[in-house]
Amino acid sequence: MQAMSSWHGQMFVINSFFVLFCVIYALMLNETSPRLSELAGQDVPVAAWCLDCGHHRVLAVGDLLRRMDSCTAAAAVARRLSCDRCGSRAIETRPHYAGLGVVAGHRWHED
Ligand SMILES: [Zn+2]
Repeated sequence: MQAMSSWHGQMFVINSFFVLFCVIYALMLNETSPRLSELAGQDVPVAAWCLDCGHHRVLAVGDLLRRMDSCTAAAAVARRLSCDRCGSRAIETRPHYAGLGVVAGHRWHED
């Protein structure tokens, strides 16, 4: 009986780790996708922030597609941009879903 309950305990721990792993994996996936082609299909623009001066711009996917590949991830667009106000290359880009707004990760500017 003793051995039985400890076996169940181990299974529970393994299951917890598995769930945690799935959540982290989903978050990472969310970070690298969607790609520009998907955003174009949904008519979703890309929001870009300068981490140095806080300058913010919403970029039309159509303009981005003229300059880069359609399978570029939205978050990877940042590497191709520089700030048009201070010239910094420390840029963050995210899909700009209408309605999600403040909820969807503007939190890194709360400092
Ligand atoms: Zn800037």
